[in-house]
Amino acid sequence: MPESPRRVFEEANEAILLTDAQQRILDMNQAFGDFIGCPAEAVLGEPLTSFLAWRSPALPEVCDDRARIQVVCRHASGEERPAILSLRRVRDDAGSVAHHVIVVIDLAVLADTGQVPSGSREVFFDALTGLPNLQLVTQLIHDAMQHAERSGGELTVCSLDLDHFKAINDRLGEPAGNVLLATFAQRISHLLGGDEVLARIGGDEFVMVLHRQADDAFLDALLRAIRQPIRIGDQPARITASLGVTHYPGDAANGDMLLRHATQAMYRAKQRGRDTYHRFDPDLDLALRVRQERRRRFAEAVSAGELRLHYQPQVDMTSGEVVGVEALVRWQHPEKGLLAPGRFLPDIAGTALEIDLGEWVLVETLAQLQTWREAGITLPVSVNISPSHLLREDFPERLATLLEANPRVPPCMLKLEVLETAAMHDIEQAMAAIRRCQELGLLVAIDDFGTGFSSLTYLRQLPVDLIKIDQSFVRDMLTDPDDMAIVESIIYMANRFGRAMLAEGVETLEHARALATLGCALAQGYGIARPMPPEGLPAWLSDWPARREWVELQQAGIRPASEAP
Ligand code: C2E
Ligand code: MG
Ligand code: MG
Repeated sequence: MPESPRRVFEEANEAILLTDAQQRILDMNQAFGDFIGCPAEAVLGEPLTSFLAWRSPALPEVCDDRARIQVVCRHASGEERPAILSLRRVRDDAGSVAHHVIVVIDLAVLADTGQVPSGSREVFFDALTGLPNLQLVTQLIHDAMQHAERSGGELTVCSLDLDHFKAINDRLGEPAGNVLLATFAQRISHLLGGDEVLARIGGDEFVMVLHRQADDAFLDALLRAIRQPIRIGDQPARITASLGVTHYPGDAANGDMLLRHATQAMYRAKQRGRDTYHRFDPDLDLALRVRQERRRRFAEAVSAGELRLHYQPQVDMTSGEVVGVEALVRWQHPEKGLLAPGRFLPDIAGTALEIDLGEWVLVETLAQLQTWREAGITLPVSVNISPSHLLREDFPERLATLLEANPRVPPCMLKLEVLETAAMHDIEQAMAAIRRCQELGLLVAIDDFGTGFSSLTYLRQLPVDLIKIDQSFVRDMLTDPDDMAIVESIIYMANRFGRAMLAEGVETLEHARALATLGCALAQGYGIARPMPPEGLPAWLSDWPARREWVELQQAGIRPASEAP
């Protein structure tokens, strides 16, 4: 080597090596001598592998002229020093490997250059396995991600957690448990490519960083390798692991989040029965977070008083009498305006927020009943009760308490609407709940009837006071013979079982006429009135008798419901 490059080589901070095609050491600088604690005489001519600990992967075959290999070097003192070999193959004119130039990156020093405070080696390496620890792997993921971002490369972060390790540890004892962990680490290391990282971030939690996409075949092979029995002394032990995988740039999160997403996916793999892998799905995660945010915002709306109730009249088409109103929730959103329940109920379905909403609706309705009563309006109000609310053990008691708090509102002024689908879900429990509400003096209607595939037997058993025919059948009954057949059958059946019924979604006079003729007297729908704020109801009530077309409907001689066959 000419004098000046020789000096650069000698004086470099990094340990640098020159090896031949068989990885025998041809030359080295002082930094490498310091790193392994050996003078040049003891090193030159020796194979590089004799300075590596057993945990180091085999040096890659000639397939790639540049490689980064995570290894553990052995210092003369016996101390193990994790490092990365940054390897460059140099070829002769004929294309065969002449030698290798290897820069040895001391991982402890690398970690020291991160934001983490400088400290001893143990701060960045796990004592049991010699692998990078959480702090170091976090830094490595961060670096790898920046590299992938710059080079348009890919990156996979995989979280591995042994299944039921605690039980194994208890059974075998801690020393054997440690051997198991070390063996596991060794096994996985063998499956990794040169520049890929395995780290131990907790008791039985590991992290793998790959500079490529981990395909299913690789993950299956990983699980298979983990499953191979391990002998510890004369004890055979079997372990499995759950893997959570995320892939950059598919998962466009930052480094810390990549690790968090991988861990999140690992927990899903556990839930799915362990000994399997689960891939983090950024779209699903986004959808879940959006939903979570919407729930948080809805909870805020309940306490901030942004909910409103609108009321839609229900009439008897044969007499013109207004028989009640249905309370329908709205969200007066400060930015988005008045939102219909279809915009927010799906987000809270099945959560405790449904109960909060139901409570608010009941309290608000009772207050409204009281207000109207004082204004001389005595119309019963129906409220929609979500299935989870109805089926709560304490629902009837809670109703009783609310009614007691409003002693001037008779219980029969409050009606409950229960979805047919809810009643069918757990028929015994639903029937019991409905009966207990009826014992309090409330009437109970079954809502959206026809959508829940109730059998005739159930219809006969369900102790409901009113059947509401779902609007989807009513809407098209005049044009769709199938829908007409359904409406006819429900009306026929309800009449035979002596149940009152109401048609929802009555939009036109033609619908009203056809329904009344079939024997359904009660109706609700845009043709009669749209849901309105409570202040609008007195005016509507005074206008209603003057609505000529509907008055003519009554005079057309349609039989009252009581006279239907
Ligand atoms: P639902 O109980 O079957 O209420 C009837 C729905 O049909 C209401 O929609 C009403 O505005 C609409 N509607 C009434 N007449 C017509 C009509 O002639 N044509 C058409 N196309 N639609 C008509 P809304 O207010 O959007 O409520 C939708 C559903 O949300 C309700 O269906 C009910 O299941 C649920 N919901 C509403 N308020 C509450 C509530 O306070 N609590 C719970 N748990 N659910 C509620
Ligand atoms: Mg309803
Ligand atoms: Mg309905």
